[in-house]
Amino acid sequence: MLEDSYRHRGLRKKLVRIVEGKGITDENVLEALGKVPRHYFFDKAFLEHAYQDKAFPIGEGQTISQPFTVAFQTQLLEIRKGDKVLEIGTGSGYQACILMEMGAEVYTVEYIRKLYERTKKFLPSMGYKPHFFCGDGTKGLPAFKPFDKILITAAAPTLPQPLIDQLQIGGIMVVPVGDSNLQRMVKVTKKSESKISKEYFDYFSFVPLVGKFGWGK
Ligand code: SAH
Repeated sequence: MLEDSYRHRGLRKKLVRIVEGKGITDENVLEALGKVPRHYFFDKAFLEHAYQDKAFPIGEGQTISQPFTVAFQTQLLEIRKGDKVLEIGTGSGYQACILMEMGAEVYTVEYIRKLYERTKKFLPSMGYKPHFFCGDGTKGLPAFKPFDKILITAAAPTLPQPLIDQLQIGGIMVVPVGDSNLQRMVKVTKKSESKISKEYFDYFSFVPLVGKFGWGK
């Protein structure tokens, strides 16, 4: 049974203050962080890790992102209620829950079938219902374009062109770009059908984005 106790809520409040202290100012992001029970994503044996500001292994060699990183990417996306958001790298589904708490409609793609199956089953049991897809997210979801916002939660070598194509004009894409050790957070704004602008932020360390417009298989 999943239980969100008084103690868990207290720990979550502390986590929100920590993330705020690291520079997150978007109240809606902080509020969402305070709502999603991150400990539901952890095995009982590792519960004490759930409310530390750290990434954590979720199996299949993948991780649930650090809360600060989730908050940072979400803040750059400037999420508005009703935004249609494409997320590449479902993983645990935690980031997708944050986006949904903020009123976004989420399309999320995971490459690893086992993770896709697990998260597709688990998230609805918590009451979160994104649209789940299994496959190479670097190709996007052409059948569902355009997206108001696109979020890549894995390290990309370059900006995947199909994703730029599937972004709404005026839309924002947030993606960590770099090598396998370190990536720079990039915020891409689509200015017109053929023009984008880029803004560069801090360095982060994500697992590699595989697939055709990522690092390959
Ligand atoms: N957003 C996740 C963290 C994801 S870790 C969370 O909130 O927990 C990055 C994820 O991206 C991994 O699960 C990895 O398997 C996935 N991934 C890597 N390349 C991908 C691709 N081309 N398409 C879809 N998913 C990909």
